[in-house]
This record gives sequence, structure tokens and C-alpha cells, in this order.
Amino acid sequence: MPNATEPPPHLHRHGGDGWVTCGDHRHWGLFGAAGLLLVRRDADGAPSHLVLQHRALWSHMGGTWGIPGGALAPDEKPSAGALREAAEEAAIDPAAVHVVGTHVLEHPVWAYTTVVADVAPGHHIEPRAADPESLAVRWVDLRDIDELTLLPAFGEALPSLLEMLG
Ligand SMILES: [Zn+2]
Repeated sequence: MPNATEPPPHLHRHGGDGWVTCGDHRHWGLFGAAGLLLVRRDADGAPSHLVLQHRALWSHMGGTWGIPGGALAPDEKPSAGALREAAEEAAIDPAAVHVVGTHVLEHPVWAYTTVVADVAPGHHIEPRAADPESLAVRWVDLRDIDELTLLPAFGEALPSLLEMLG
């Protein structure tokens, strides 16, 4: 029987994997973590859809929805880590992504960088769950987002992230 609280043994592993204790809580990623918030826009240029990941039940806050992302590798820049994780977890081609900006959530001993991006002009992205870290990965219509249980930190950051997209 697979254990529902442990990652499968064959996942991508690197030297940044591990927990960091931060006061009364802990974070995943010895060198911090990063994720990709990828948006699609309607004909008027307003954000209409986001790529969201339904997190595997064994993962931290499993069962909630967040963005593809994870621990940074040693010496890895947050933007590079976010794109690497999005490719590994969601089959998102980094060449099809146009980075708009970054948003950093700072804790005393750890930080999470959200890399905010558009689909690059002329590209089409069909994300999918590409490894066991996700139950699902898909485009979610912003009008339907209230129906999902979001990862709390992502839900709190989402209004300011959307503001960055104009
Ligand atoms: Zn913390």
C-alpha cells in the first residue's frame, strides 16, 4: 500500500529539498521556494484564466489548489526555479512563457517568490499533471476560483498578484 503522507520515491530530487523551521511553523525548501503564476488574457487584455495545480494529498497542504512550484536548488535563481518546477510538474514549456514580474513573500529565514507570467505571443500552453505532485493541473477561469479551496498563502497573495497583471 502506498503511504498517502510520503512522496513517491521517484520524484525529481535536488539539494534544496528539505524543511526549514521558521518560528512556530516550517517551510519546504532549504534555499527558499518559487512558483509560476501563468495567466491567459481575454480579447481586451484582462486576465481571464490561471494555471492552477491541485496538490497531491501527501504534499504540504495536500488537496488544496496552488500554483506549480517548489524548493529552489542550491544557487538557483527564483525565476529559473519557478520555470523548472512548472516544466517538471505541469509540462509548461519555458520558451512559451513571458515573465512579467516577481512577488516575494519574506519570512525571517525563508522566502517564496511568485514569478508572474503571460503566455508568450504566438504560443499556446496546455498544462497537465506531469508528475505525482499533482492530482490535476489545468487552466482555471478566474470567475470560478472562489469554488476552489486555495492554498492559504496563495489565496492571501492572489489579489496583489492579479494587480501586478494590470
Ligand atoms: Zn515562516
